[in-house]
Amino acid sequence: MAAAPHDFLGRNHGHDGTETGESPLAERAVPVAVSYGDGIGPEIMAASLAILNAAGARIAPQPIEIGEKVYRAGHSAGIVEASWDTLRQTRVLLKAPVTTPSGGGFKSLNVTLRKTLGLYANVRPCVAYSPFVATRHPGMDVVIIRENEEDLYAGIEHRQTDEVFQCLKLITRPGCERIVRYAFEYARGHGRRRVTCMVKDNIMKMTDGLFYQVFQEIGASYPDIEQDRYIIDIGAARLATHPERFDVIVTPNLYGDILSDIAAELTGSVGLAGSANIGERVAMFEAIHGSAPDLAGRDVANPSGLLLSAVMMLVHVRQAKTASLVHNAWLRTLEEGIHTADLASAATRRRVGTRAFADAVIDRLGDSPRTLPAVEYSNPEPVARSNEPAYVRRQAANKATVGVDVFVHDGATSPADLAGRLTALATPTLALKMITNRGVKVWPKGLPETFCTDHWRCRFQVGATDAPIGHRDIIELLTRLTEAGVDVIKTENLCTFDGVAGFALGQGQ
Ligand code: NAD
Repeated sequence: MAAAPHDFLGRNHGHDGTETGESPLAERAVPVAVSYGDGIGPEIMAASLAILNAAGARIAPQPIEIGEKVYRAGHSAGIVEASWDTLRQTRVLLKAPVTTPSGGGFKSLNVTLRKTLGLYANVRPCVAYSPFVATRHPGMDVVIIRENEEDLYAGIEHRQTDEVFQCLKLITRPGCERIVRYAFEYARGHGRRRVTCMVKDNIMKMTDGLFYQVFQEIGASYPDIEQDRYIIDIGAARLATHPERFDVIVTPNLYGDILSDIAAELTGSVGLAGSANIGERVAMFEAIHGSAPDLAGRDVANPSGLLLSAVMMLVHVRQAKTASLVHNAWLRTLEEGIHTADLASAATRRRVGTRAFADAVIDRLGDSPRTLPAVEYSNPEPVARSNEPAYVRRQAANKATVGVDVFVHDGATSPADLAGRLTALATPTLALKMITNRGVKVWPKGLPETFCTDHWRCRFQVGATDAPIGHRDIIELLTRLTEAGVDVIKTENLCTFDGVAGFALGQGQ
């Protein structure tokens, strides 16, 4: 049987639950799915695998076909069924970048892989290699841990009116708990001292508010790790100007997407950073850059991003010694000024192509860097799956429906006219309380300066009585509205959970 994969924290995800390590059992090669990708992909993958092979990595690459060719063959997601089968078996993918064909009808392969395989954590270390790689931030050593499945990336988008398009932002408690716990475990397992949470909870009080609340709840179990929080806008600005002040950053999907590119760029070259996408069962390792079609086939691309991803993969499959061997040889190569074109600077002594760079790393296997700190990975103690803190669903809250927001498409009305019509259509249980336009209250007591588009959120709440309402009350209201010709786009129920309002006050606060 092949050695069983672990996740990036070293937890055993073995097929049979046995532990493996750099032990006799692991002498057998670990099957790893490998995709050569598009553009510069095949060149940087060949270079990376040559280095792993020379370093004695015990992996058995299983090539899978994904990317441009597969898209062109009519598979809109860029992947065929056989590749899923291989991924399910190996549970580890080393992936070169792919080209997403332009034009409609093609789904992002990366989003498909992340969501289908449940790769909830995107881990991107961004390190400065000054003075060997030119950067304005020599002390930078940041790890961005980005939630990878939720937020605005759920892809739930609708056009609702002539003028308004909507994208739903979904943040879940299990999603927050998983990524936040992962970030703290990562920090502890990698000797990091601080975890910073970046959110926009001053505006998105419920969604980003939940993320930060979970950060505080879970953070309480990690008193050994310093913890702080930034609002994402000032946090991103500080990261760009003082990245050396940050250690590990945990953040929801969209912010993480943006932050991690900023951080990678600050290190000196987009060709340098690797990343891990971690799930409960499968993990995917890839460079952060794309397929660079401008460089394809010219033997000039920097293979470092993919190589460092492969180093992360070796730690994942518990080959820490080999990971350290490769990483240190790579650092020594940089130090000696052996650079690909993207790194060319005053520190460059020999400018080389992709293959020659790989040969230089191979020649230095066994060497350590003299100026940059050497790395020493270790295989963390495996934790049996059954011991992992599984998500515990809380007891269901006492939920009561107390009203409904009815969204209306109307391009010809004014707040006062709409309020007049809707007030007349109210039911005995549901009365019109408020109308907002783009979240700004326009009735009652709106201001004439407020610009109104054709999309109105009309809040109906319990009128004469205090009793919670039922869905039938909402249906009765909708029936009246529809029969009167009101174009209802959608509704959102207003609920309380154990007496606490589960909805924003909605006055553009
Ligand atoms: P890109 O990252 O491919 O290129 C951006 C710039 O960085 C280019 O100037 C390129 O020459 C340079 N560059 C990138 N990698 C380099 C390397 N290893 N060595 C030296 N220079 C390097 O981004 P793009 O041009 O926006 O995208 C090209 C294609 O890649 C698109 O089809 C895009 O969809 C795809 N893409 C794929 C992934 C992925 O598979 N993970 C990620 C991003 C983009």
